[in-house]
Amino acid sequence: MQIRLYNTMTRKIEDFKPITPNHVGFYSCGPTVYWDQHLGNMRTFLNNDILKRMFLANGYSVTHVMNFTDVGHLTSDEDTGDDKMEKGAARENMTVWQVADKYIANCVRDMNALNLIRPTYTPRATEHIKEQIEWIQKLEKLGYTYEIPGDGIYYDTSKFAEYGALGGQNLSELRAGARIENNNKKNITDFALWKFSPTDTKRQMEWESPWGVGFPGWHLECSTMSSKYLGEHFDIHTGGQEHIKVHHTNEIAQSEPIVGKPWVHYWVHWAWLLLKDGKMSKSSGSFWTVQGLIDKGYDPMSYRYLVLLGHYRQPVEFSMDSLDAATTGYKNIVRKVADLMNDDASGIDEDKYHQWHDKILAPVSDNLKTAESLVVVQDLLKDKNVNNATKLALFEFVDELLGLQFMDRAKKLHELESVAAPVEIQQLAQQRLEAKKSRDFATADNLRNQIDAAGWTVMDTPDGFKLVKKQ
Ligand code: AMP
Ligand code: ZN
Repeated sequence: MQIRLYNTMTRKIEDFKPITPNHVGFYSCGPTVYWDQHLGNMRTFLNNDILKRMFLANGYSVTHVMNFTDVGHLTSDEDTGDDKMEKGAARENMTVWQVADKYIANCVRDMNALNLIRPTYTPRATEHIKEQIEWIQKLEKLGYTYEIPGDGIYYDTSKFAEYGALGGQNLSELRAGARIENNNKKNITDFALWKFSPTDTKRQMEWESPWGVGFPGWHLECSTMSSKYLGEHFDIHTGGQEHIKVHHTNEIAQSEPIVGKPWVHYWVHWAWLLLKDGKMSKSSGSFWTVQGLIDKGYDPMSYRYLVLLGHYRQPVEFSMDSLDAATTGYKNIVRKVADLMNDDASGIDEDKYHQWHDKILAPVSDNLKTAESLVVVQDLLKDKNVNNATKLALFEFVDELLGLQFMDRAKKLHELESVAAPVEIQQLAQQRLEAKKSRDFATADNLRNQIDAAGWTVMDTPDGFKLVKKQ
């Protein structure tokens, strides 16, 4: 199936052409681990997961890299402000290293709860300092850097003619719009590659370098780690939409002089999760996490369903009301899938299976239209011409593609309902199942009659049996 994606660089939906046939390599900007990841961050990671599952469903092998930013960077894009990791450490009375470990573990926990397939590699910035220093040295040799004494090594954006192309801005427009936070920079858009440690305070994270003790600039880690794990040129780079104008623009500026053009073939950016009064963000201090939802008794799949009802290029507004509505919608589907497990399983209708399989996959392959795919899923449930076994097999596929765990939740519901039968009846049904497995149909029939006489109907399901009390 032809895959199509919106490419921020060209501002068009394009046919996807991989660098290596049937393989996709993509890099996603990951979290800064000084605090828990909120539901907004998780929307971004979930979108990465959908991108990956779409490629897998289309028969691609996938190499996915997502970094953990564990170096304490400064809070503004302008390389000024406080160090986020040091702030986290002071808040929690821990070392910065402990803070990083704690929040990486929490992030992985929440990603698992949302059923995100683990990235192939999750490199940490602090484990790639050597590579980052080498990258700066290459840029230095090519003449792209300058030093601000007592401050750091900076990238000279005026040397890179296409600077700003990703955000559709040229250098003079950018210069006119920018706030001046550092008067010593040659151009307002220049950014730090290496920051010197302050002389008056001791930083917990700092490293030796050819220019002096300090720490790398934030943008650098993504260029060096993507190159290490995906090669110098790769298919897709993803991240939240706010990365277009600064972070990703700077990643391109510091990468293309070294690796050549185009460094990345497709740029895919995710829209935000909003609260009523603006973006959900860590700096606001109060935010929702996946674990917070679980603690309140929500199934994390309800949140996943809520996000997939939107499109990745549009904002999604989060509120407890929208989550409750998504929970009801999600549970309705689970109920219907559980009901499919009630009837005797007939065989899978291969033709119908393939027809519906493609109908479900097509919208997701077309620029990740998950909501449209979920409409097809609802139509499938309503279609009386598709038997239950085929529908259940298709739901296995829906779960692979959208990761919504419908089958898992439906099985649990179904089991719960089966448990209602008294133990003796369940034992008879179990014996009947064994008899059927060993092809002793006379015994199986006899057991069915006994169960019937006791007021229960036993039904075969793909997993075994279901017992339903007779009216
Ligand atoms: P951070 O830890 O702040 O660097 O964020 C990690 C990732 O989450 C980045 O790719 C951000 O763009 C993304 N992100 C942050 N806030 C939101 C939000 N409210 N909605 C969607 N994505 C977000
Ligand atoms: Zn990045």
